[in-house]
Amino acid sequence: MQVHSETEVRPRRRPKRAGAGSAIGELVDKVLQYQPGADVEPLRHAYEFSSRVHEGQKRLSGEPYLTHPLAVAGLLTDLKLDLPSIIGGMLHDTVEDTLATLPEIESAFGEEVAALVDGVTKLSRVDFTSHEEKQAENFRKMIMAMAKDIRVVLIKLADRTHNMRTLQYLSSEKQRRIAQETLDIYAPIAHRLGIYWIKSELEDLALKHIRPEIYAQLKSNVAQKRKHREKYTNDVISRLSKALAEEGIDAEVGGRPKHFYSIFRKMENQSLDFSQVYDLVGFRIVVDTVRECYESLGVVHAKWRPVPGRFKDYIALAKPNMYQSLHTTVIGPNAQRIEIQIRTQDMHRVAEEGIASHWRYKKEKDLQVTDMQRFAWLRQLLEWQQNLSDPQEFLHSIKEDLFPDEVYAFTPNGDLQSFPKGATVIDFAYRIHSDIGQHCSGARVNGRLMPFKYILRSGDTVEIITTQEQTPSRDWLKVVKTPRARSRIRAWMASQQRERSVALGRELLEADFGRHGLDFQDLQEEGTLETLGRELGVKNEEGLLAGLGYGKVMSRQVLAKLVPADRIEGDKKQLEGGLERLFRLVGSRDRGVRVKGIEDVLVRFARCCHPLPGEDIAGFITRGRGVTVHVASCPTGLDNDPERKVEVNWSEDAQMPRAVKIEVGCADEPGLLAAISSAISEAGVNIARAHIRTFDDKAVNTFEIMIASSDQLRQVLQDISRVKGVYKANRVQG
Ligand code: MN
Repeated sequence: MQVHSETEVRPRRRPKRAGAGSAIGELVDKVLQYQPGADVEPLRHAYEFSSRVHEGQKRLSGEPYLTHPLAVAGLLTDLKLDLPSIIGGMLHDTVEDTLATLPEIESAFGEEVAALVDGVTKLSRVDFTSHEEKQAENFRKMIMAMAKDIRVVLIKLADRTHNMRTLQYLSSEKQRRIAQETLDIYAPIAHRLGIYWIKSELEDLALKHIRPEIYAQLKSNVAQKRKHREKYTNDVISRLSKALAEEGIDAEVGGRPKHFYSIFRKMENQSLDFSQVYDLVGFRIVVDTVRECYESLGVVHAKWRPVPGRFKDYIALAKPNMYQSLHTTVIGPNAQRIEIQIRTQDMHRVAEEGIASHWRYKKEKDLQVTDMQRFAWLRQLLEWQQNLSDPQEFLHSIKEDLFPDEVYAFTPNGDLQSFPKGATVIDFAYRIHSDIGQHCSGARVNGRLMPFKYILRSGDTVEIITTQEQTPSRDWLKVVKTPRARSRIRAWMASQQRERSVALGRELLEADFGRHGLDFQDLQEEGTLETLGRELGVKNEEGLLAGLGYGKVMSRQVLAKLVPADRIEGDKKQLEGGLERLFRLVGSRDRGVRVKGIEDVLVRFARCCHPLPGEDIAGFITRGRGVTVHVASCPTGLDNDPERKVEVNWSEDAQMPRAVKIEVGCADEPGLLAAISSAISEAGVNIARAHIRTFDDKAVNTFEIMIASSDQLRQVLQDISRVKGVYKANRVQG
């Protein structure tokens, strides 16, 4: 068993002195350590290129500019990135800050490196410190860069890390601005990518420049308590180690001080003084197997009382950035709270180095892969993203985690579009153009044919397929997520319906006019129809015809304005338009609902929401089927064209009982069903049907009962709920 304590932060690497050939020599050595046999000539070449074009430039610190790209490349070797990334880091400022051009870089270092430098250059021009909306937009650009090639973002992270380390040379206003941006954008990205050491360093450096007084105070407080803390830490470590050894668990136990920013956050969030923050040290138990993780947890909890609600199992449920561990907080020696993380060696590597180590770890198990390929994981991420489903899943989850409510998809030209989560191919089509949306019949998503219902995922490249015959349908409204697509589809449906209704209205009117010796065309040309439309409150001629078509206006009303009443009366039977005839045929059924403005109309109750007397309702005219009554808030009802909406009210005698389905959950006990049935009967309600299902010790009973009003339903549900053993009683649809 190994026991070790890292009670202080490891010393940060200092930027290397430039000029000496040893700087590049050291860098090359580091690369060869994890990529033995790699061709490092291009890296040496990049160093020479960079030193030539940055010649004479100095950083604000007074050091030669070359120290910066060298340090950035060094950080990228700490991340064990592939050679193109390290070369890209070496060259990352050449296009922005020197006379060097992209074509030059491309011809000297190839397309891949040039694309990385281009990506970093573009990202550097993005200003994340502008106001909020723009920041969101820029954040999207960052994600776009990440989706295209995640290495661009890693080079940018290394660049920012070195700039933060040397921030003191800037004006204090600039310091604060850059530090804030680091806290807002770069530290979260490092966190999401799981690169813990960059995340905590960025946060500490940002705190130092944004709240220098707090940082200084924390630093001195931590230093003052050091002796005491070290003693305490060693005490906890040795007790834990002993307890684990007694159970035969081979473990590494360590403790390390939390970084300043996390202490600061804790003080802020919980309004604590420094003196009240006890757990300045986080403890860690690293074991060999998952089983030992849980065994160790048992040992810890047996030794010290766990704090309720603080246990988290990230082994069973890994974080999206692949982090796995068990977390617990216990009341340790001297009644101090201590936080303990328990994980395996593999999990530990992932926790420290993020997705890089995840890939390395996977590859180590796969022995066919050469060392060279092993560390090209980032490039593979990009390739896999296009070819395989699993790594895409991974990238997807990273982005999901960063922006849980949005998805990002590309046009074939590489333009990025963002959508609300759940958006479909149709939303994408309408985003491009209304006409494209109108005729969208599907899409090629990442080269594969997908139906219009396909739900977009981040990273998808979407090419919309249109056909002239395709037009919007009501189903589309059920799958779209963007307001734009929804409103365009509705507008199209309304215009189609209106066109049909106008044609139908004209047909009806022409027939009825013919019977009375009136000429439709004459009346139209004189403007009589236009006038009649106004008089009947439907705006104009078109409104009149559409109203007739919908059935909102009766041809009898139109004729009354043109023909003496006695003549219409005499011909009443003949005069009835198609719609009126239909209503009469089916028979006027007063089902307890009055439709405003229309008498003798067939009323049906919608099967989706089963309105009950007393509920708020809305009616919709359906040609040939009278008026369908929905509950006012019913989504299916609201999907109807608002032009077809008519006002409906319950009449006073609307007490005709209707079948309503209810569900009653209760314990599966003898006699309970009888008790429920009698509760229903006692409320004066008849049971039309009953159905009983039992699960384990529970029963779910479905009853169809005859209900006359919403008040009565409420009452009977209440009565049922009072029966002992019933745990729920509610209405169900259908
Ligand atoms: Mn730079």
